[in-house]
Amino acid sequence: MSEKKPFEIARETLKQLTLQKLPPTPANYMALYNEIAGVPVIAPFPVDILRDISKSLPVKTPGQQKQRGLLDYAIDRLNWDGVKTALIAYGSFAPLTGGDDAPAPAPKTGLNASAPALTTEFLEQLGKLIEYTQPALGTDDERFGELSKSLTTALRQSGADILNLKGLLLSYSDRVSFVAEDQAEIKKVLLKLLHLVFENIADLSLDEQWLKGQMDALMEASSPPLTLRRLDDVESRLKDVIFKQKNAKEHAMQAQNEMRTMLAAFIDRLSDMAKSTGSFHEKLEENARQIEQAKTLLEIAPVLKEVIGATRTMASQSKTSGDELQTMRDRAIQTDAELVKLHQELDRVSTLARHDPLTGALNRKGLEEAVEREISSVRRKDTPLCMALLDIDNFKKLNDTLGHATGDGALAHLAKVARECMRPQDTLARYGGEEFVILLPDTPLEKGIEAMTRLQRELTKKFFLAGAEKILITFSAGVAQLIPDETGGDAIKRADKAMYLAKRAGKNRVLGA
Ligand code: GH3
Ligand code: MG
Ligand code: MG
Repeated sequence: MSEKKPFEIARETLKQLTLQKLPPTPANYMALYNEIAGVPVIAPFPVDILRDISKSLPVKTPGQQKQRGLLDYAIDRLNWDGVKTALIAYGSFAPLTGGDDAPAPAPKTGLNASAPALTTEFLEQLGKLIEYTQPALGTDDERFGELSKSLTTALRQSGADILNLKGLLLSYSDRVSFVAEDQAEIKKVLLKLLHLVFENIADLSLDEQWLKGQMDALMEASSPPLTLRRLDDVESRLKDVIFKQKNAKEHAMQAQNEMRTMLAAFIDRLSDMAKSTGSFHEKLEENARQIEQAKTLLEIAPVLKEVIGATRTMASQSKTSGDELQTMRDRAIQTDAELVKLHQELDRVSTLARHDPLTGALNRKGLEEAVEREISSVRRKDTPLCMALLDIDNFKKLNDTLGHATGDGALAHLAKVARECMRPQDTLARYGGEEFVILLPDTPLEKGIEAMTRLQRELTKKFFLAGAEKILITFSAGVAQLIPDETGGDAIKRADKAMYLAKRAGKNRVLGA
């Protein structure tokens, strides 16, 4: 270690810079300073310079592309060894140039003559990329459409002028950024409108209670990230809601009309009865007068006959009215029973909105409610609660090789096997695409892990059949035991982290959080 004081080292450094005629850059100053001070020279990692170098490395083969990626990665991590390895490997992926070792001169205009096939292919790919992105960017902006067309034409022209292409590409990328922003905004606003419509449907409903579940499910299904699959789901749910609501309205209107008709008939009947009782009384009074005035029994006899006749008519009219009223009462009871049934059906539909139609497991909304219930029970009874999150392994591959419908079948199969080996008090919910959550009440962590391992074993016995092919479904899972004062969401997050570690550790395993 040098005995020199810092100001002496600084003075000596400046002197040496001048003597050695070195440019007075901070890097040169630091190197000399360290040398004079006897401090080991640790050169700073020249990130920017290395990035520049990496950017200027041509990428003509997939191997070169990969190595340049690795070089960027090593630069990001300030890793000299990585930089060295990537550069050495990059060299070994140079394209064949027909034995000519001299590098081809950089073209000022036109294509690189040493690799015409590759460049043409590259330009063609670029043209395709622009064409493929076009539908996503809409057709509203005419200038943008024209620009894309002239760019793709220019890209496909033989002997394309690189400078012209560069200009076109620059204007294209400028324009694309505006158009893409517009499209994203349009999508956001449309989604907002959709949500507004959903919210308002609930206000128009006859009975908000049952529709609320449906609306919540629709809101959830239409929240980003949107995929065509989810939008399909939204469409079919919405159709279902509209159909059921229309049906319910028709039924209710019909029942109301029937009630109204019956009430009108009932009032008619009552007034008829009042009238006939009124005329019966008048008749009786008249007969009573005749009887008073009668002097002989012979005079009374016809009056009595009239009284008996009127009483009989009255009795029969009363009976008819009584019968009709009874029929009306029966109809009213029946209509009422139909309305009760209708409401029960609507309630059932509302329960369905808490379930995932494909697997029959609870959906996110249903899970939230179940978690709330379980947690309040844990707080009351002071018992352990485990939450397991499982994610099917390599599910994308299964979809890709056997098709989406088979993928759907596999999800339903897993849910079925899970239900079979779970206890009645356990709850199964579909958390996302191929992710499920299982709530295990009264279960400490080790038992929770055991339960999930048991489900793994069951799946090795109960194969999923895709036609005649036996498919083994495996999953990775994380299990978390709820800790005091923790929310359900946080426990699931911990289970998710453990699940992720299980994936990293090689999949098909269960880890505790
Ligand atoms: P890993 O082992 O790491 O979990 O990989 P993975 O392929 O299972 O996971 P990834 O997240 O890459 O893929 C999940 C796939 O699940 C992608 C998506 O298409 C599919 N998926 C999501 N929902 C459904 C569904 O309802 N039915 C079907 N058939 N596939 C679905
Ligand atoms: Mg997943
Ligand atoms: Mg998966």
